[in-house]
Amino acid sequence: MAERDFLADFAALSRIGATAGGGVHREAATAEDGAARRWLCSWFERHGLHTAVDEVGNMYGSAEWLPGAPSVLVGSHLDSQPTAGRFDGAYGVLAAVHAVAAARDAVTAGTVVPMYNLAVVNWFNEEGSRFSPSLMGSGVYVGAFDVESTLAVTDRAGVTVGEALADIGFAGTDPMPPAVSYAEIHIEQGRILQDTGTDIGIVTANWAARKYSVTVHGAQAHTGATHLADRHDALIGASRLVLAVRELAEAFEPGQLLGSVGRFTVSPNSPVVVPGTVTLAVDLRSADPDVLDKAHEQFLAVVDAVNNDGEVAVEIDSLSLRPSTRYQSSGIVLAEAAAGRAGLSSRRMSTMAGHDSVNLKDVVPTVMLFVPSDAGISHNEAEYTADQDLLNGVAMLTEVVTALLTRGSAG
Ligand SMILES: [Zn+2]
Repeated sequence: MAERDFLADFAALSRIGATAGGGVHREAATAEDGAARRWLCSWFERHGLHTAVDEVGNMYGSAEWLPGAPSVLVGSHLDSQPTAGRFDGAYGVLAAVHAVAAARDAVTAGTVVPMYNLAVVNWFNEEGSRFSPSLMGSGVYVGAFDVESTLAVTDRAGVTVGEALADIGFAGTDPMPPAVSYAEIHIEQGRILQDTGTDIGIVTANWAARKYSVTVHGAQAHTGATHLADRHDALIGASRLVLAVRELAEAFEPGQLLGSVGRFTVSPNSPVVVPGTVTLAVDLRSADPDVLDKAHEQFLAVVDAVNNDGEVAVEIDSLSLRPSTRYQSSGIVLAEAAAGRAGLSSRRMSTMAGHDSVNLKDVVPTVMLFVPSDAGISHNEAEYTADQDLLNGVAMLTEVVTALLTRGSAG
């Protein structure tokens, strides 16, 4: 029965911002994100969880037994990339909702004696597509970003985070509940679990990532009337960078380095104008910090080489490093025991993608879990995870939440 409820809830949530291709389009603080958030609020209300919203739009649905005690936080994100799959983030929030409700019912029935309070969380703007950077709400929660500058971040139309949250009715004032531990479940977005026939991935570390925001400055000119010698074509310089990033990744052993350019904006983008400016977002990732350092040096050398050619000027506007760090071994061991109790197979693995849990693990013991992703397809409408895998994950997360709620030591 509970399983049927979960699948019905997931189908209902997937209809919000649904695309014709079977995915969702629900970028942070858009009308569609607002609708998904109101759906979650009504779920909290119907199931007796107390709703709160903090200043940066993180939503909480809590069950409190011990006034003043910290909470076991469980969640993920409801926002999506453009034309994305319906599982990324949303599955984790809904699994958290069902796991928390089940644990709360066990407490009410007296079969579980809690040492902490319990709350679901929907983190604001995990994806970072409309507002950059990603992992924004959880970043504020852990103190990596401050509230004021986060609310002032603008999208490409100049709308601030603060304005966008107010527009959808989620500019909150509630305090952030202190956490004692954190758990998150997510689709793998890779193919290891499917290829090895494993039910659950238990994440031990995250890949390191370097992200660069780059502007190539040229000079706008007439495509039909400007001699080649007189051109400063920003798109030529930008194209060299795009290809160099791929070549750089291919120069390492397979699987060591990922590199891509995700965002690429040509200005003024007219058929008869030599582009004056191109901005691009470069993303390099590796499990090995040395490989990423090497790739960083090589990328800077490519930037220098393009600059030295003299046709364009390349400027790195911002760069960030997300180091590779490990999840607490106490949580890994706890999760393995939980998988055993739930009768599910599990394996340890690292996460290549970023998740809010990467932030949370820096401040509290954190458990990060994966369920299989069909063919590893993600950030794509064809993203798919089978019903049984979704339900296995809910059972697993429920075991983990119950264990976190009752263990004597949070270490
Ligand atoms: Zn996600």
